[in-house]
Amino acid sequence: MRKPIIAGNWKMNKTAAEAEALIAELKPLVAKSKPDVVICVPYTDLWAAKAAIAGSKIRLGAENVAWADSGAFTGEISAAMLKEIGVEYVIIGHSERRTYFGETDETVNKRLKQALANGLKPIVCVGETLVEREKNKTKRILKKQVLDGFKDVTDFSDIVIAYEPVWAIGTGKTATAEDANKTIGYIRSLVKKTWGAEVAKSLRIQYGGSMKPSNAKELMAMKNIDGGLIGGAALKAQDFAAIVNYKD
Ligand code: PEP
Repeated sequence: MRKPIIAGNWKMNKTAAEAEALIAELKPLVAKSKPDVVICVPYTDLWAAKAAIAGSKIRLGAENVAWADSGAFTGEISAAMLKEIGVEYVIIGHSERRTYFGETDETVNKRLKQALANGLKPIVCVGETLVEREKNKTKRILKKQVLDGFKDVTDFSDIVIAYEPVWAIGTGKTATAEDANKTIGYIRSLVKKTWGAEVAKSLRIQYGGSMKPSNAKELMAMKNIDGGLIGGAALKAQDFAAIVNYKD
């Protein structure tokens, strides 16, 4: 049995003071939740968020990590810096990083290895664009993202994959639960073929893309979907908690 994991991706939202307020509201709402609960927040919020989640089951995540240990990489944040704060999870390869900041499967792979080497749990994002989908290239794109992104990785026990069709992120358009389940099933079959049945069986794969309280239950009922990566709805405590508590 794979334990569901619901993670919020705050993107470039919330100052540290706003983060404290949001977490204070969220904490009691997810106190009895069954899934793993993670919030991935901007770097500048991490210290405040770490203090604010104390005594709760909310785990802390960042939105990226550098591929190098230290040095001349202006604007980057290292795994050691994140670990010192108490960060556990890190999003890698989000489509916004791929689209606006030149992230590639190769840089995803470098960041992923760095995260693993430093004991961070990576949430690696994959997903096709609308054009790729319309040209029937979804499988080809996912195959490349998975095979190149996870190149040379052997231990998947701390890894989460987030399947996020780019056309569904922040657009209000959600993949149908059946579609998302089928595509995640394809990703799982790819993992099985490359890394074996045991890895495929235990690997948690989330869906992401306009997941909200009204569709969470249906998506989470699918056998291949082990959680959600939540953008917009993670910025409201009530909405995020309703997704986390989708079973209630
Ligand atoms: C995301 O950014 O990972 C995401 C899924 O965003 P949204 O939920 O807003 O579509």
